[in-house]
Amino acid sequence: MSSSLSLTETCKFKLSPNEEQRAILGELFSTYGNIVKECLNKAIKMNVTSRKRLHEAVYRELRVKYPSYPSHYIYTAITQALGIFKSFRRLSRKKRNVKAPSIENLDTILLDDTHLFWFNWGSLKLATHKGHIIIPFELHEHYRKFIDWSVKGSRLVRRDNEYFLHVTFRKAVEEEKASGILGIDVNEKSIDLAIIKLDKVRFIRVDVSEAKYIRDRYFKKRRSIQTNTSGRVRTRLLAKYSEGEKRKINDILHRASKTIARIIAEEKVKPVMETLTNIREKIRYGRKMNRRLHSIPFRKIQSYISYKAMEQRFKPEFIEAKNTSRTCPICGDLNKPNGHVYKCNKCSFQADRHIVAAWNIAMKYPMWGALPLPPKAIDEALKAEMERIVIKS
Ligand SMILES: [Zn+2]
Repeated sequence: MSSSLSLTETCKFKLSPNEEQRAILGELFSTYGNIVKECLNKAIKMNVTSRKRLHEAVYRELRVKYPSYPSHYIYTAITQALGIFKSFRRLSRKKRNVKAPSIENLDTILLDDTHLFWFNWGSLKLATHKGHIIIPFELHEHYRKFIDWSVKGSRLVRRDNEYFLHVTFRKAVEEEKASGILGIDVNEKSIDLAIIKLDKVRFIRVDVSEAKYIRDRYFKKRRSIQTNTSGRVRTRLLAKYSEGEKRKINDILHRASKTIARIIAEEKVKPVMETLTNIREKIRYGRKMNRRLHSIPFRKIQSYISYKAMEQRFKPEFIEAKNTSRTCPICGDLNKPNGHVYKCNKCSFQADRHIVAAWNIAMKYPMWGALPLPPKAIDEALKAEMERIVIKS
């Protein structure tokens, strides 16, 4: 069942053009902006989203109008214009009176990776109306890991009169063969893990309660800003604190998912998580918890874990299953957890409720053809102590 995984990551390089190149880039941005604008106007007028039809309608005319510009800028401009037009159509289907898109100062140029730019480590060769120009940029140490990756796509971005190259790198890796499953249950204060193998079981709690305290602290701060300030001061303070909160929480979540990825690699287990619809279902059970559970960035946590697991060559799986927090993993009976404890009324099995959920999530993935756990593993599971890893900021 081994397959290939594709990793992609985007890096930003700050370009250092000389004065002459700066002037060329300025012209390129304004002409390219005009080309996109003309494509977009045409797309709106004809109401087309087909690239073939838009191409037929604009290409020749634009080619004549901008003869010194490499023709592939017209191709990427069409792509960009269609992107803008499609998102406008999507939006106007949902809401009324959406303003038609107009582009005054376009600050992004989509590059075509075989005709418009050639990426070298430390310099960018760019096709322009003044021929090829080579613009140097500084390389930081952490870009080294991308040296054997391939360049997938790229954009030229202008911000505050500085120019940046955004490059998306891609690498294909072969999936590792897993020897077990890792069930992952994401909660408010912890990410709970159940490692299930045919002859081994481990339960680990990755404690992220620090993230909850940070959220609570910032929640109070925000409330006090809302009551004590107004106008622009309020807006500025709220923005500042929400940035700070986001940074701190992201840091904790990154470190937690790194820890989980390390466990995945060491144990050689396939990570299994619940789909978001499943999680929402679960939240509905405990109405009191609603506000707090809604503030947990489930999607973000899952995507961090997914990406880091893929870096370790283990492909994450998502299961759609009901009752992961209510099913007894031993006898299958349904019970409602009481506080932190899950207790089965039928077979009297008892354990931490989040561990039970992680265990059930792991078992929903049909790794061994949905067999029940062999007696040895059940025996192990009943004896297993919960290990604990605390993530601090
Ligand atoms: Zn039971």
